[in-house]
Amino acid sequence: MCSNTARKTPVIKCPHCQAQYLPGEIYIPGSLIGQPEEVVKDGFGKIIYEDYSDLKAPEMIEHFICEYCDKPFVIEATVSYKSMTEEPEKDFSTQYVSLLD
Ligand SMILES: [Zn+2]
Repeated sequence: MCSNTARKTPVIKCPHCQAQYLPGEIYIPGSLIGQPEEVVKDGFGKIIYEDYSDLKAPEMIEHFICEYCDKPFVIEATVSYKSMTEEPEKDFSTQYVSLLD
């Protein structure tokens, strides 16, 4: 499953020496997502209240000291989530009907 040509994880580069790091080397697992203490939603699923303890709030900004040049730098993560409906399964038993003029 390891390939150098098809990289899927983003790479973080030291701005001083261009040394490369994977996000998992810099961010503590779970720190980007956080762990809410309490989530309250209305009857339609809309979030009306959320609360994080100080330790489990999402942390997008991380301070790091490069292991190669010993210089500090700051990383700010920009995370976005895209949701979509699942691909409808192709049903070959159904015939496609074209309307004739
Ligand atoms: Zn560096």
